[in-house]
Amino acid sequence: MSGIVEGKVALVTGAGSGIGRASALTFAREGARVIVSDLDVEGGAETLDAIRKAGGEASFIQADVSRENDVANLIQQTVATFDRLDCAHNNAGLSGSPSALHEMTVDEWQRVLAVNLTGVFLCLKHEIPKMLVQGGGAIVNTSSGAGVLGTPGLAHYCASKHAVLGLTKTAALENAQTGVRVNAVCPGAVDTPMLRAAMAGSQEIEKMVLRSQPTGRFGTPEEIAEAAVWLCSERSSFVTGESLLVDGGSVAR
Ligand code: NAD
Repeated sequence: MSGIVEGKVALVTGAGSGIGRASALTFAREGARVIVSDLDVEGGAETLDAIRKAGGEASFIQADVSRENDVANLIQQTVATFDRLDCAHNNAGLSGSPSALHEMTVDEWQRVLAVNLTGVFLCLKHEIPKMLVQGGGAIVNTSSGAGVLGTPGLAHYCASKHAVLGLTKTAALENAQTGVRVNAVCPGAVDTPMLRAAMAGSQEIEKMVLRSQPTGRFGTPEEIAEAAVWLCSERSSFVTGESLLVDGGSVAR
């Protein structure tokens, strides 16, 4: 049986860890040739290795998504490597240091916005023209449950993830008749290095977060990846401008 993105070329940012790594592996398993991109070369190499060991085809390109030159080069190199760009998962992100909004420094605010918001804007800006030339494509941006709910202590993160949904809807509408679909996935609490770092190794905090989860457990990176790859596949051909919560019911309460 062929995969749901058989023969496609997929780009995943933040693919050196967590959700991005699972997404890159899932794209490869489902038949795509994958560009693994991350700022972190070591993490990227581990993902590449895992894809190749599983029999997939992939290549690594380092890029800092907050820098336009890096993103422009990433898209050029993707097309130079695999001839086209069909699917993109704009996933790289940071959680930022927590603090009350009125105590947040402008530097910390800008650090988070540069990656989580400007990074997604730059990826869309450089991906869409390549897809337009080909006559279509599908993009999924990683937002968050914090993209739809207020998040005390993480004003920068929360604002960036809300804004990703605005970018997603606008890009989807601008491209509704071009064959380029743009959607977002909104993960809940997912067991990745980012979540582990936020819980700072404290069993107390972990128990508290787990108690707040309707399912009583964290999501897995693979559960988010399944949704992202589906949104980039032709199985979701009439879905655009959508924000898909994959959060074990957290926002449903
Ligand atoms: P992670 O820390 O495991 O992975 C994030 C990856 O992004 C890392 O490999 C990191 O090197 C990369 N990255 C960071 N800054 C970058 C930059 N400037 N350019 C390129 N790459 C960069 O985190 P994760 O949990 O897998 O998060 C992935 C995405 O999912 C993020 O956008 C995050 O906000 C979002 N998210 C995560 C959760 C969760 O609970 N884990 C929940 C909601 C949303």
